[in-house]
Order: sequence, then C-alpha cells, then structure tokens
Amino acid sequence: MAEFALIDRLRARAGQRDDVVLGIGDDAALLALPPGEQLVVTADTLNAGVHFPAETAPFDIGWKTLAVNLSDLAAMGAQPRWVTLSLSLPDGDPAWLDGFADGLFALADQHGVALVGGDTTRGPLSISVTAMGSVPAGQALRRDGARAGDEVWISGVPGEAALALALWQRGVLDVAVRAPDPHAEALRLRLCRPTPQVALGLALRGIATAAIDISDGLSADLGHLCVRSGVAARLQLQALPRSAALDVHAASEQAWPLQAGGGDDYELCFTASPENRGRVLAVAAAAGVGVSCIGRLETGQGVHWHKPDGQPWSPARSGFDHFR
Ligand code: ADP
Ligand code: MG
Repeated sequence: MAEFALIDRLRARAGQRDDVVLGIGDDAALLALPPGEQLVVTADTLNAGVHFPAETAPFDIGWKTLAVNLSDLAAMGAQPRWVTLSLSLPDGDPAWLDGFADGLFALADQHGVALVGGDTTRGPLSISVTAMGSVPAGQALRRDGARAGDEVWISGVPGEAALALALWQRGVLDVAVRAPDPHAEALRLRLCRPTPQVALGLALRGIATAAIDISDGLSADLGHLCVRSGVAARLQLQALPRSAALDVHAASEQAWPLQAGGGDDYELCFTASPENRGRVLAVAAAAGVGVSCIGRLETGQGVHWHKPDGQPWSPARSGFDHFR
C-alpha cells in the first residue's frame, strides 16, 4: 500500500472532536485548549521485540501503543484529547494496518480521543504515539507532591503482565492467540491489552498527593516518586492484592518478585493522606477500579518491602532499563 493510501485509511477513522480545528491533512494540526487548562503531553515508543514479542497480534500492538500513552496521561490526572502517530513499517501490508488500526481505535474511541496527525516511514517495526490531554491549571497529579505519613496505594493487581511474559518465555503461553484456559487468557490480556486508568486518574485530582503509572515495575516506579518527593516508602508484601489468575499460576512468595519488580501493568501507584482514605475508596469504587493500600511513606529514602513476619525483603530485579 502506498504512503498516502495508508494515511487515508487512518484519516477515515481518526475520530471527531470540537476542539480539533484542523486535523490530519495539513502540515500540522490546530488544536483548541479550553481557557484555564494546561496542556499535558507525553510520548512513548514501542519497538518490536523490545516492547512486545514480535508475533503479537496487530490489534494488540495498536491497543497497547495507545494504552501506554493514555496511562501516562492518567497518572497526571489529565483528560485525554488528542494523539499523533508515527509509524515505521517494514512494508505497507493493508491487513496488518487494518488490524493495528482496529486495536488503536477501539481504545481511542472508548476515550473519545482523536488522531490528529503523525508520520509514516519505511523501516523496522516501531510505533510512536504522542498523547495530549489537559488539566485545570495547577491540578495535575505530579510525582513530587508526596509527604511522609501519606499512605501508598495501587490500582488493580500488579504482576499479572509480568507473569504472562514469564509464561510466554517458558513456552507455556502463546501471546498471539486466545488462551483456552480463562486464567491464562486473563493474564495474556493484561500483557497485550492493558487498561489505562484514566477515570481513576481524573477522580484522584485534589485527593492524591502524588501519582505515577506502573510501567517499569512497582518498586522502580514508586522509587521514582519517592526520589522526586524526597521520602521513603515502607511497604507490606501481604498487602499486595492477588487475583484468581495469580493464585493458579504463581504461589504467593513466587509472585512477590513479579508483583514488586515486574513491569507492563499500567496501573496507578499514588499517595494520599490517611484522612483521605474514605475519599480514595469512594472515588475508586465510582470509577469501578479496585485499589489497595500497600504501605506508608516515611522520612528517608528508598523503597523498603517487608515480609509477613516483618523481615525486610527486596526484589532481585527492580525495573526495566533499556541500556542496562
Ligand atoms: P509532511 O510532509 O508535511 O510532514 P506528511 O506527508 O508526512 O506531511 O503527512 C501528511 C499528513 O498526514 C499530515 O497532516 C500528517 O500529520 C498526517 N499523517 C502522516 N502519517 C500519519 C499517521 N501515521 N497517522 C496520522 N496522521 C498521519
Ligand atoms: Mg509539510
């Protein structure tokens, strides 16, 4: 497929919004931000073989590329509005592009996000999305607002995506097709079709003191929040939420390294004052998201885990680093 035919296919599905003055088709897009709002911008690239197994279905690649970006907006408490898409494709395969677009727009349409531009080139498979959203001025959830005494919360069940990846690496889970066993399928979807916690991020404005999304692993990402806020975290392993799928595939102690150190969950980790515990639980319930308090912030530095018997524990691997 030629470059402009490919762009036209994407343009036909780009989505409409009143705040898009000029979308795909000119040298740049013109976008209108409501008065009093700040623009929130984030970009993430997914490379075949690095960010997803090469055999991943095109639908899932499209979904995940957008999901990881919306997750960053969620962690800022931002309302998603617009995305751009830069595609490097080894060939112009229309079937691949349609599958990819199905996944991308399934999630974009869920959030009412419009595709407003991008770039298309030939090369090794690599996809970059820039996502833009907004927050009322001064209301963004940042990494640097946490204080000693705040409680540490997470949404969802961390470790499921890492468990799916481990099962794939062991050759017992095929990431490209529906798994016959429902628990294995639940894990596969956590890896291939993560849910960005946009509604929760919006609801936590004015309640959370700081937030980050869990992309590189809970310990590592909470570590970034602690550094930016100048605090330490004291966490309880037994407070980590579990799921039926984890119960079947990884006993509790086996799951700790995955839950504390594994990446790709795209859940939110946030902090809030203990007085706001009731509000946190109420807005999470309204957003339809499970949240768990896993510990507290103290003065000092670092992320410190404790076993049920009170002994310290640390994950062997903490966080993904592309250059390590
Ligand atoms: P230019 O040469 O001015 O950068 P292009 O020929 O690359 O423009 O793109 C033409 C139009 O199509 C632009 O509006 C651009 O934003 C859009 N576009 C190109 N590739 C994509 C893509 N992958 N997704 C969305 N829009 C795209
Ligand atoms: Mg131009």
